[in-house]
Amino acid sequence: MLELTIEQISMEQSAVNKPAALQLLADLLVADGLVAPGYLEGLQAREQQGSTFLGQGIAIPHGTPQTRDQVFATGVRLMQFPEGVDWGDGQMVYLAIGIAAKSDEHLRLLQLLTRALGENDLGEALRQAKDPESLLQLLQGAPQELALDAQMISLGVMVDDFEELVWRGARLLRKAECVNNGFAAVLQQVEPLPLGEGLWWLHSEQMVNKPGLAFVTPDKPMRHLGQTLTGLFCLASLGESHQALLERLCALLIEGRGHELGQAKSSRAVLQALGGDVPPDWPSERVTLANAHGLHARPAKILAQLAKGFDGDVRVRIVDGTDNPVSAKSLSKLLSLGVQRGQSLEFIAEPTIAAQALPALVAAVLDGLGEEIEALPAHSEPGADKAVAQKTLSAPAAGSQRQAVPASPGIAFGPAHVHVLPVLDYPLQGESQGVEHERLHSALAQVRVDIEQLIARSSAKAIREIFVTHQEMLADPELVDEVAQRLRQGESAAAAWMNVIEAAARQQEQLKDALLAERAADLRDVGRRVLAQICGVEDLVEPDEPYILVMDEVGPSDVARLDPARVAGILTARGGATAHSAIVARALGIPALVGAGDDVLLITSGTQLLIDGQRGRLDVAPDEATLKRALQDRDTREQRLKAAAALRMEPAITQDGHAVEVFANIGDSAGTPAAVEQGAEGIGLLRTELLFMAHSSAPDEATQEAEYRRVLDDLDGRPLVVRTLDVGGDKPLPYWPIDKEENPFLGVRGIRLTLQRPDIMESQLRALLRAADNRPLRIMFPMVGTVEEWRQAREMTERLRLEIPVADLQLGIMIEVPSAALLAPVLAKEVDFFSVGTNDLTQYTMAIDRGHPTLSAQADGLHPAVLQLIDITVRAAHAHGKWVGVCGELAADPLAVPVLVGLGVDELSVSARSIGEVKACVRELNLIEARKLAQTALAAGSAADVRALVEGL
Ligand code: PEP
Ligand code: MG
Repeated sequence: MLELTIEQISMEQSAVNKPAALQLLADLLVADGLVAPGYLEGLQAREQQGSTFLGQGIAIPHGTPQTRDQVFATGVRLMQFPEGVDWGDGQMVYLAIGIAAKSDEHLRLLQLLTRALGENDLGEALRQAKDPESLLQLLQGAPQELALDAQMISLGVMVDDFEELVWRGARLLRKAECVNNGFAAVLQQVEPLPLGEGLWWLHSEQMVNKPGLAFVTPDKPMRHLGQTLTGLFCLASLGESHQALLERLCALLIEGRGHELGQAKSSRAVLQALGGDVPPDWPSERVTLANAHGLHARPAKILAQLAKGFDGDVRVRIVDGTDNPVSAKSLSKLLSLGVQRGQSLEFIAEPTIAAQALPALVAAVLDGLGEEIEALPAHSEPGADKAVAQKTLSAPAAGSQRQAVPASPGIAFGPAHVHVLPVLDYPLQGESQGVEHERLHSALAQVRVDIEQLIARSSAKAIREIFVTHQEMLADPELVDEVAQRLRQGESAAAAWMNVIEAAARQQEQLKDALLAERAADLRDVGRRVLAQICGVEDLVEPDEPYILVMDEVGPSDVARLDPARVAGILTARGGATAHSAIVARALGIPALVGAGDDVLLITSGTQLLIDGQRGRLDVAPDEATLKRALQDRDTREQRLKAAAALRMEPAITQDGHAVEVFANIGDSAGTPAAVEQGAEGIGLLRTELLFMAHSSAPDEATQEAEYRRVLDDLDGRPLVVRTLDVGGDKPLPYWPIDKEENPFLGVRGIRLTLQRPDIMESQLRALLRAADNRPLRIMFPMVGTVEEWRQAREMTERLRLEIPVADLQLGIMIEVPSAALLAPVLAKEVDFFSVGTNDLTQYTMAIDRGHPTLSAQADGLHPAVLQLIDITVRAAHAHGKWVGVCGELAADPLAVPVLVGLGVDELSVSARSIGEVKACVRELNLIEARKLAQTALAAGSAADVRALVEGL
């Protein structure tokens, strides 16, 4: 990501001409390791194609697509030339921003610069800047404007109470990217201010990215705190940008015109009253941009020049974008849109010039704006570009084997049934508003009936819940409002529906929380169902024999519609293990592999496939021997599971008499009885963040104490290992705002976060100590990476313990960060125990995001590098008489159990349903043999080698 910092700036440079300036920049980029020396040629070639002068004394020299392979790392270097350099045509440059970019990252930089480019006399100010700080400040431009336009206004919304209205206001702000997720929860905590005449006001500065004001009115006046409410303002406040608006609002109230806002029937009326951006009621036309590198400086310049030729206002916006239209005559404004290939633009022109300007602008875009363009795929569905790319792929060869993400356990074998979703063609323009409205609503009604039937037919709760969510998505008033608006503008039902769904899905995808982001698949799933209805397309026809369904990304409703007796297994090209389709597959007991790669879609239907949903393995047309082994494995596994279930309450003791404790991981304090019933000898990991996430504000000490007490009561004397709150980064709490981070997994998580909020940590510790009542309580701290973190956490607990004595307390840390494992010899002297969180330890050791849709299959905890860290931990702990548990997913992997026991792990903590199987695995072992196996595994070169080693036993 390109950002501007003072370290990148070289002040007071001088160059006699442009070639000399380019040479200076290239030398600096090379010296800083960003590019190879050949990049200079790219800079020169690019200037020959067209000057990179941007305006206001700034040029942005960068390479050409041909010299991208000379870039080692994306970055920028800025050089100030106070004497100026003539960049051609007498355009003087005082600041050259040399860009090393592998793709189109410079569009982002242009977006950053555009606010500054709107300033008068920027060039002169850049020339005179005396230090990097003031230069950077100039580049960052004017304070941000308050976002207030038609998209920030929702009138007559159907809500039950004030809370829901606040939520709707916050949602408008979030859609406009003014605020982060969680802003609604922040607003709920703020005291609302009655302005009079039925208007209310709420504002906060927390979780705000850019200032914005939303205005929502309920469908009928409501009462709040004993007063009438007809309209609510929600302000995402940042700096002083809302000052002018406030003054205007006060003036309106003094004039006694406040009720006009509460009774407004159109957003235009509200905007006119408040002085917001009123959308012009002008003719418009749309066109999709096909330029390979988006609307970068050169094509944008041509577009701006063309627009300038018309004597009237021409604006442009990205269809489905959140930004307001900008002037098509302003180069900097055009660049600020950051348009990419495949995005649709809408030109809006003053009526007097529209007839000439709109066709000319559309034709120029279609013509490539001075660049050669490759036509877009016929239908710009998401993934359509991918479909083109797939042409260069080939199907995996017969006899080949690969790893994918295991999504639902079990072994399945059968012919492939490759189901590539048909590209549905539909007109963009509608026949008439009435006809399209009718089409849409009868399709929606039909899909609702279908979903009702699916809910009624599904015996699994998880599946029913998913379809209830689909029903809610279909009924979302905001979606329906947006589609209706598009129908009014003349779009067809299909186009209006898909545009809205796709925009919503894209927005969902951008959420940092992987689980929430994966809900985009549900939106698209529902979207396709409705589209298929509108287009009159039939459902997928299943083959007769049990088969392996191969799809790009299976929508949950695709899976739930399938007959588990006929679908032996599921294989998808994309998707993650937490996708709803995976949840459905698990609920139906259908083995599934996801994220296997795009080329699996090229497998010919009928090819025999073997999938192992536990190991994450796919065999294409396996030979007889492989198949026989796999099917034997399946039978043996089924028998083993039955036998294991029968012995689940017995202890796990190896054949030579070594006992390993098998505990359960739970998140819900109500889950203990079920875990004990499955054979748990204690709780090895209570993930307390789930308790915090279930509340809209931090649960107080008494609430927490009751929850912890419940677990201890249900354990009836068995030990409880509790992990203190592990939130932050990728799993934020709505009421606990955290600054946005580039890499949340490497950011303020776990103990790093709780140590910053000792009040929350203390109240959790107090609640735990009070709940203990001398029962065996073990407290551990997540994400510890340094000795200091551990000591601070321990000191806090010990201090509280003086106040609330507990007889049977142990304090430990989770080993999740490699530094903690490497420091185990030091930490072991001080802790009572370690518990290895292999999910995180693997991600940090392998540098693979644990939720990565395509790489996470490679993040295998049996990698010798991870095993080495566990080995260090166990050795250190045992040398000081301390115990070690493993509570990550690895502990439940039957191939990992022998290795972990061989490494000396004392306790395995797994999900309740795996307890029987893990105990059975331990019982099959001989400790001496397992130790030898572990030593060999430590010397292996890959996780695959370790797995092969264990399988060879
Ligand atoms: C782990 O990282 O292995 C672990 C048990 O913690 P969580 O999965 O909750 O991050
Ligand atoms: Mg963890």
